[in-house]
Amino acid sequence: AHLIKSLPKAKYGGRHTVTMLPGGGIGPELMSYVREVFRYAGVPVDFEEVPIDPSNDSNEDLEYAITSIRRNGAALKGNIETRSLSPNVISRNVAIRNELDLFVNVLHCTSFPGIQSRHSDVDIVVVRQNTEGEYAMMEHESVPGVVECLKVVTRANSDRVARFAFDYAKRHGRKKVTTIHKANIMKSSDGLFLAVCREVAKDYPDIQHDDMIIDNCCMQLVSNPHQFDVMVMPNLYGSIVSNVICGLIGGAGLLSGRNYGYEYAVFEPGTRNTGSAIAGKNIANPISMMNSAADLLHHLQLENHSVWLREAIDKTINVDKIHTPDLGGQATSMDVIKNIITFMQAKTKSSTFT
Ligand code: ADP
Ligand code: MG
Repeated sequence: AHLIKSLPKAKYGGRHTVTMLPGGGIGPELMSYVREVFRYAGVPVDFEEVPIDPSNDSNEDLEYAITSIRRNGAALKGNIETRSLSPNVISRNVAIRNELDLFVNVLHCTSFPGIQSRHSDVDIVVVRQNTEGEYAMMEHESVPGVVECLKVVTRANSDRVARFAFDYAKRHGRKKVTTIHKANIMKSSDGLFLAVCREVAKDYPDIQHDDMIIDNCCMQLVSNPHQFDVMVMPNLYGSIVSNVICGLIGGAGLLSGRNYGYEYAVFEPGTRNTGSAIAGKNIANPISMMNSAADLLHHLQLENHSVWLREAIDKTINVDKIHTPDLGGQATSMDVIKNIITFMQAKTKSSTFT
């Protein structure tokens, strides 16, 4: 059975309400593109927008955002900047994942045939533990000049992320799960993660299981990414591996990432960048957020709209080759969006006559 039970919650008169967290940098402009595409394509989704001010040390905005996601069940998210380096000001991104118990992050990394990159035909699913490990945010200075940081690995969280990975592999006809770790050095923490993955693997006899040390994994990814199928790993390795793979197949502006717990789902660009330096210039690649929007539509069971949006992305990037500067092209963000809207409108129109 599907392990994640989070189903669309807020639905009134056939329309869904979804929380929108624009975040900083390019977040707000990418969100305006999502609104525009949804409006032109007649997508029955209303957004409840919750801006979070990163310069505000109070957590009021954050609490409101969490309440809103609890009510709606799903959110579309940009990256929220944490400007303060004060240990009292925690990362809002981490806080949201922890508060909502979004214990798994999934990145489906597939190559775009229309984009020149180091490797083609990559098809890897990264399943990342999303709430603990090195992100436990338990750091302290024990004596001046000596800082300790706790990395927390629990059996319970390792078990459910491993089960998610194997279950995902099974449901999607995948053949192999590779556990990524550093258990040769971190014998207790990563050792527990690896041991739990091996136990869970026994419940999935049809799926092959192997494991690889994180450093070798990075080298193998760069030299031969085709050996990987589904990968499962602790939090920090997940962040690094996701970025390596995105870099291999065309950069930060393409892929989406999905955060799931048993009750809530949050969709955001895969590499979680703020993109402050390129904000407001009409050059950010909107595809990563478009893919996140397509993930959201699939989650809301608006299957037609989800498929059309993916087809629109495919046509824009691979056939029409409308590429923003990060992909070596000269198109603006709006050029990409206009092309997507034209495609979506044609689909919406033709479907009303069938
Ligand atoms: P972070 O928020 O983690 O500091 P950055 O904002 O510095 O990350 O982003 C890392 C790199 O990826 C930058 O060079 C940025 O311009 C690029 N980048 C991120 N998102 C996009 C996007 N949507 N389109 C184009 N480039 C992007
Ligand atoms: Mg930055």
